[in-house]
Amino acid sequence: MTITRSIEECRAWGRSRTGRLGFVPTMGALHKGHLSLMRQAKRECDAVAVSIFVNPLQFGPNEDLSRYPRQEEADIALCAEVGVDQVFIPFARELTESMLTHVHVKDVGDAWEGAHRPGHFDGVATIVLKLFNIVGPDVAYFGLKDLQQCAVIEQTVSDLAVPVDLEFVETVREPSGLAMSSRNAYLNPDQRKEAAVLHRELQSLASVVRLKNHWNTDAHDTILAKLSDVGMKPDYLAMVDRRTMQSQSVPDRYSRLIAAVRFHGVRLIDNVSVHLSDKS
Ligand code: AMP
Repeated sequence: MTITRSIEECRAWGRSRTGRLGFVPTMGALHKGHLSLMRQAKRECDAVAVSIFVNPLQFGPNEDLSRYPRQEEADIALCAEVGVDQVFIPFARELTESMLTHVHVKDVGDAWEGAHRPGHFDGVATIVLKLFNIVGPDVAYFGLKDLQQCAVIEQTVSDLAVPVDLEFVETVREPSGLAMSSRNAYLNPDQRKEAAVLHRELQSLASVVRLKNHWNTDAHDTILAKLSDVGMKPDYLAMVDRRTMQSQSVPDRYSRLIAAVRFHGVRLIDNVSVHLSDKS
């Protein structure tokens, strides 16, 4: 496994190989969710590159950039275990300093996370596009846990004719149902158990919506009350078309229920499909 740090080293590695290259961009603190993306890339590609970069452009001024978990050695060991071929750990000075260009994806990136974290998706789209230009993958893998991120990247790739295929991978969860996330490390074991209520309530709302074949405001209100009862402060709970991130009232195969809450100072996001054959 090769570790590269400069743009030039990463590009030189790319020039030295042939075949289909899969790419998994991450911010490190790797867990089973990241590993499932890497394993899928490994199955489908001739070689796999992973990037580890805590992207300052996607954090707001009052967010957790400085305390975001960092564990480079453990991450490198996990990549080696999965059989990753290249780990790119870029220098912040090469990736984000003195940047005058920013990618902004209108509409798809404006609501939900975009509204609660102004500038977040500009930071994501700009750096993901830059990583694509450095790593040069044939296919890139993203987790559906970050549903709006998937929609933003898909729009960027389509609008700017970026020559990369995209694969979206279903969320890996704790046995309790809690979506795995690097930020779960901020919660203690009891809080983690309690946090699983978010996924349970999303699933119960999905059954109501399926049954009525319509968005249901009463069920939405009941669930918000239940989340508040356990100390969660909901930012939003909605049904959207996962491609456009626009609200829907009648479900179809693209419908997902999305939610974000603040719980013991930690922001948790999750989403489930309304479509029965998806097993989220
Ligand atoms: P991050 O390191 O949080 O930026 O995540 C890197 C990639 O892993 C993103 O595409 C995430 O959507 C994906 N990811 C994070 N958590 C999970 C999970 N629990 N299941 C599947 N993919 C995930």
